[in-house]
Amino acid sequence: MKILLFGKDGQIGWELQRSLAMLGKLWAVHVHSTDHCGDFNDLDGITQTIRTIAPDLIVNAAAYTAVDRAESEPYLCRSINALAPERIAEETKRLNAWLVHYSTDYVFDGSGNKPWLETDQPGPLNTYGVSKLEAESAILASGCQHLIFRTSWVYASRGANFAKTILRLAKSKDSLNVINDQLGAPTGADLLADITAHAVIMVRKMPQLSGIYHAAAGGETSWYEYASFVIDLARQRGVNIQVKPDLICAVASSAFATAAQRPHNSRLNTDKLKNTFGFNLPHWQTGVTRMLTEILEEKT
Ligand code: NDP
Repeated sequence: MKILLFGKDGQIGWELQRSLAMLGKLWAVHVHSTDHCGDFNDLDGITQTIRTIAPDLIVNAAAYTAVDRAESEPYLCRSINALAPERIAEETKRLNAWLVHYSTDYVFDGSGNKPWLETDQPGPLNTYGVSKLEAESAILASGCQHLIFRTSWVYASRGANFAKTILRLAKSKDSLNVINDQLGAPTGADLLADITAHAVIMVRKMPQLSGIYHAAAGGETSWYEYASFVIDLARQRGVNIQVKPDLICAVASSAFATAAQRPHNSRLNTDKLKNTFGFNLPHWQTGVTRMLTEILEEKT
C-alpha cells in the first residue's frame, strides 16, 4: 500500500510516522518539505503531490491548531483546516483511495453533560471549530472513502503540552489557578496513531466501515484534575514541586480571558469506535502516566 502522510511533524503526525510505517511504503511530508509540497496554503502544490505519489491512503495530520489566534486569522485557519482537506478529499475520491482525517470535540457547543455521539448536532463555538466542521462536511460531500476521528485534548511527550506547562509552573509558583468547568479526556497522540493503523487495516477489508468516529482515551476529567494528577505524580517521583496542594485552585473558565470560547462539555462517546473495531481504549491516566514518566526520565 502507498501511504501519503501530511503534517508529519505535528503531535499526531510524528506518532503516525511510526504506526503507518508497517502498513506499506510511506511518504511523509510537512509544511516545508522540498521534495513534495506539503503546504496547505498551496492547493495546487498539494494536488500535485497527491497526483505524483498516487497513494492508496492519505492521512492528514496537518492543521491550524492555534485556537485563540484563529479568531484573528479566520481566513488562514479556514484555508488550512477546511479548504485544503476539501481538495485532498476530492483527490482521494479521484484515486478511489482512502482518507484519514482528524477532527475535534470543538465541533460541538459543549452543552449538557452527556458524552457526545457521532450523530449529535454540531454547533462550534469558535473559528477553529467552524473550520474543522467545514472540513468534515467537505470530506463527506466528496464521496471519498474516509475515516474521520474526532478527538480531544491531544498531548505528546515531544514538544510543548499542558502537563509540561503545569509542571514548570508548579516548580516555580506558590499557587496555581486551573480551569475546572471544562470536561474531557486527555488523549495521547501515540494512542491515536495506533488506532489509525489498526482501523486502516480493517476498513481496507470492510469499506462499509467508512465514517466518523469519536476517538479519545477512557474516563473523563477537568483541566484542574488533570493538573492535580500531573503534580501529584511528579511529587511522588521526587520532583521538587513548590506549589502547595491546597493552593492549586479550581476556577471557572471565565477567570481566564481567551479570544476563543471553549466548550464546557468535551466528553466524546467512543462506543462506536470500540464496538466497530473491537478496541479497548485505556483510561486517560494510563497514557498521561507514561508520557510523564518519559518526560521525567529525560530530565534525570
Ligand atoms: P499540531 O499542531 O501538533 O500539528 C499540526 C501540524 O500541522 C504541525 O506540524 C504544523 O506545522 C502543521 N501545519 C500548520 N500549518 C500548516 C500548513 N499551512 N501546511 C501544512 N502543515 C501545516 O496538531 P496535533 O497533532 O495536535 O493535531 C492533529 C489533528 O488533530 C488536527 O487535525 C487537529 O485539529 C486535531 N485535534 C487536535 C487536538 C489537540 O488538542 N491538539 C484536539 C482535537 C483534535 P508547524 O508546527 O510547523 O506549524
